[in-house]
Amino acid sequence: MDHSKSQAAFAEAKQYIPGGVNSPVRSFRSIGGVPPVIAKGSGSKLTDIDGNEYIDYVLSYGPLLLGHAHPQVTESIQTAAAKGSSYGAPTLAETELAKLLCTLVPSMEMVRMVNSGTEATMSALRLARAYTGRESIVKFIGCYHGHHDSLLVKAGSGAATLGVPDSPGVPKGVAANTITVPFNDRAALEAAFAAKGSDIAAVIMEPTPGNMGLVLPQDGYLEFIRSITKKYGTLLICDEVMSGFRSSEKSSQGLYGIDPDITCLGKVIGGGLPVAAYGGKRQIMEQVAPVGPMYQAGTLSGNPLAMAAGIANLTYMRGHNVCSQLESMTAILTGGLAKAAAKAGVPVQLHRLGSMFTVFFTDQEVYDYDSACTSDLDAFRIYFHSMLEQGIYLPPSQFETNFLSLAHTPEDIEKTLQAAEIAFSAVAAA
Ligand code: PMP
Repeated sequence: MDHSKSQAAFAEAKQYIPGGVNSPVRSFRSIGGVPPVIAKGSGSKLTDIDGNEYIDYVLSYGPLLLGHAHPQVTESIQTAAAKGSSYGAPTLAETELAKLLCTLVPSMEMVRMVNSGTEATMSALRLARAYTGRESIVKFIGCYHGHHDSLLVKAGSGAATLGVPDSPGVPKGVAANTITVPFNDRAALEAAFAAKGSDIAAVIMEPTPGNMGLVLPQDGYLEFIRSITKKYGTLLICDEVMSGFRSSEKSSQGLYGIDPDITCLGKVIGGGLPVAAYGGKRQIMEQVAPVGPMYQAGTLSGNPLAMAAGIANLTYMRGHNVCSQLESMTAILTGGLAKAAAKAGVPVQLHRLGSMFTVFFTDQEVYDYDSACTSDLDAFRIYFHSMLEQGIYLPPSQFETNFLSLAHTPEDIEKTLQAAEIAFSAVAAA
């Protein structure tokens, strides 16, 4: 593949933008090489400015459930844009999306729209603290909930990839209120509650973590978290920014039968435009201004273009059985990847849920951040670059999740599996 235009463009980007990117993991810094500079996306494919085409398993890190430039989503955005891009006043579309979210995720009785997952979790924590009058929070090591101070502590995703899970610049006093425990570890959570239970405002969790690669909860673990939080009067915040409408149409809380107090959503609910939301029980949400004293606001929150994209994405999803179709396709792909790895003699752990999956390059079971870190990152790097050169675009980190879209075809899957055979052989030969 010729990457000369991307190389020149990215060199220029680095002069003006830190690392040439507006979100660190896009830079390929930890994996090496220059990221393709993208000219367009269509269906399951990305095209870079050199004209190379890739089958895309990043899908903007999750939002594009229907693929790039899905006609219904694009049309809704165009129709909304023709009527003006923002009003700073109530619209019908905001109520429509809010109602849709409360129907799809019944633990949410009211919902507030924001512009990013970071804002959603930041606001959810403030709300939990306002509601309980407590200050401490518990998060799980290797989970990522956005880049605000309270949660940029032992964080996954790009923070883990770049080796800054505890970023400089987070005040010690803020980080001191964040208690971290390993995922799937009951004793550690019990000990945290035994030590500080009456001061813990909230436990925030990705119920099916996707930011240390995809890791699944062990049997009964989520129920255990729900019951211990109830026992101590602590709110449970389910961060489904990634898993929402990816793990299933009911999201992970519906799949596992968990009833959280507050839920954070993002990604899929905006269909590729900047939308996220936090919502929950009426009694809690009525603490939010202007009804209650907990202040939170946004100039562009509930933006009409973003609402239109979200409504179109979710309406199409509901009407076309999208989540279960994607689950079947993901099972076929991961089944093929497992076979290809075995044929090459490369030990992997393959995790999948709904339309999400991760290939961990380790022979050990992966159930938390430490076990995810047993992955052979050199093997991952070889696999990643081999796939990229064969036109398969994967997330450039072991600590991310791959996604499928409705636009992926059986031919895409076939091509991906052929490329994977070559990539796993390259790993085995290294
Ligand atoms: N929570 C989770 C579970 C996420 O995966 C992410 C982003 N990957 C966020 C929060 C932050 O969302 P955003 O990047 O939109 O701020």
